[in-house]
Amino acid sequence: MPSTIQEPARSIPVSAEYDVLVVGGGPSGITAALAAGEDGLRVGLIESRSFVGGNMTIGLPVLGFLGQKGNQIIDGLPEKFIRRLRTERDGASEHRPCPLHMGITLVEPEAVKTVALEMLTEAGVDVLFYTFFAGPVMDGDRIAGIITESKSGRSAVLAKVVIDCTGDADVAYRAGVPCGKGDEHGGMQPPTLMFCLGGVDTDRLRMTIANAPKEARTYLTDFIPAEYFGQNHQFIVVGLRELMAKAKEERGLSIPNERTIIITGLKKGEVWINMTRVAGTDGTDARSLTNGEIEGRAQIDDIVTYLVNYVAGFENAYFTKTAPFLGIRETRRIVGRYVMTQEDVLSCAHFDDAIAVASYPIDIHRPGDEGCTLIWCGDCYDIPYRSLVPQKVSNLLVAGRSISATHEAMGAIRVMATCMAMGEAAGRAAKISVRGNRAPADIDVGELRRQQLEHGVYLRNRDGSRAGLQDLAPAA
Ligand SMILES: Cc1cc2nc3c(=O)[nH]c(=O)nc-3n(C[C@H](O)[C@H](O)[C@H](O)COP(=O)(O)OP(=O)(O)OC[C@H]3O[C@@H](n4cnc5c(N)ncnc54)[C@H](O)[C@@H]3O)c2cc1C
Repeated sequence: MPSTIQEPARSIPVSAEYDVLVVGGGPSGITAALAAGEDGLRVGLIESRSFVGGNMTIGLPVLGFLGQKGNQIIDGLPEKFIRRLRTERDGASEHRPCPLHMGITLVEPEAVKTVALEMLTEAGVDVLFYTFFAGPVMDGDRIAGIITESKSGRSAVLAKVVIDCTGDADVAYRAGVPCGKGDEHGGMQPPTLMFCLGGVDTDRLRMTIANAPKEARTYLTDFIPAEYFGQNHQFIVVGLRELMAKAKEERGLSIPNERTIIITGLKKGEVWINMTRVAGTDGTDARSLTNGEIEGRAQIDDIVTYLVNYVAGFENAYFTKTAPFLGIRETRRIVGRYVMTQEDVLSCAHFDDAIAVASYPIDIHRPGDEGCTLIWCGDCYDIPYRSLVPQKVSNLLVAGRSISATHEAMGAIRVMATCMAMGEAAGRAAKISVRGNRAPADIDVGELRRQQLEHGVYLRNRDGSRAGLQDLAPAA
């Protein structure tokens, strides 16, 4: 077999031209497109799957709305979206405090797909499904558009500003933006194929944890006191380490995880299981992703055997479905105008160009073993606009888990409420860039912050209080 072949050059049609093009319709892409289109610009959104929502459709709760001090620190478009899910479709819970995760907001995957799509189409965003970003169209240091690949063949989509919300920095990477991947050895957090069980007595589960004798370690949970489960009917269980070790030993089960992770669904008796773990998978490599799907699926039977035979409340549980795709925690991160670090997260850093506030702890499913690193900073930290602005390409922005951050800081900013907040900022920055005919790196960040506040985004003052328009520095 030859190692390469020559692909002939060819002309391809230009299928669309926008002011702002968003690539990827996950949590960050949805809010990026909504914000970019809020006052009439032509906005396109390209999504490789047949629905929007990204990882918000794989059975995960949205984390990050509540900060470590218990107050709500994400507002604006993400809050509007969750409120609409809750009020129109019963598709979201309240933001519930959790000692480990700070705040959990349960969402129903099908409602996420429907409501997000409704909001995008109502806002006039031109959504195109089944279409893959295949390469950039470069004009010097500008990205003039992208090449797409789909059932219709290859075509070009042009735009004044492109926002990369692929999670993998696909656009930025191919456009020549320097990118990092994983930890110092290139190790990435392992992916998980989420799956769902029905017929679970979640009250029996939580009361068993709540009432377990203190000295019995089998129902011990990580960081969450037993009493919490007595008081909350929607929750995440993380732990039960000794119970699972016992099951593995007695039944010879192969479960590459130290912790049991159970997330209650919004429907009665439904839970989502976050326990498969496919170390060594590279989410930017199709062969590796395929192997990950195969391996993740193969792990499910043993996990179900453990849950049904050992965990209280699962006696009559049955498998219902897997998530639509393998959940990828980590791949590429761009190198931008500023690289967020662990020190920024742990020192609760303030930035003059803050466009969002986050509080989720550093939470790294370690690439090298079956454990997890969790570090809390005690309060909030800012996300600086410069971390959304890549080096090298002048009219590109990046939002979501692949912004400019180290492996450790990415472990904190990756949760979905934070990704939605970054998307909103990137969309609004793109709008300001187009309206002012200035590169995203050169826009007036004070104006961006003013517009963020006008749209209800949560920003904070140096003393930690919520910032209002009166707190902004006067325009120079
Ligand atoms: C197993 C697992 C558990 C997690 N647990 C939680 C949790 O409990 N709570 C929480 O808040 N967060 C959790 N996270 C983190 C969170 O889900 C992600 O970090 C977050 O969804 C990232 O958002 P995003 O918008 O950057 O990317 P994504 O959600 O990955 O969305 C990217 C979108 O872009 C599309 N796309 C990608 N490439 C292309 C392309 N080339 N062309 C066209 N479209 C493309 C994808 O189809 C997708 O729709 C978890 C992640 C995983 C994997």
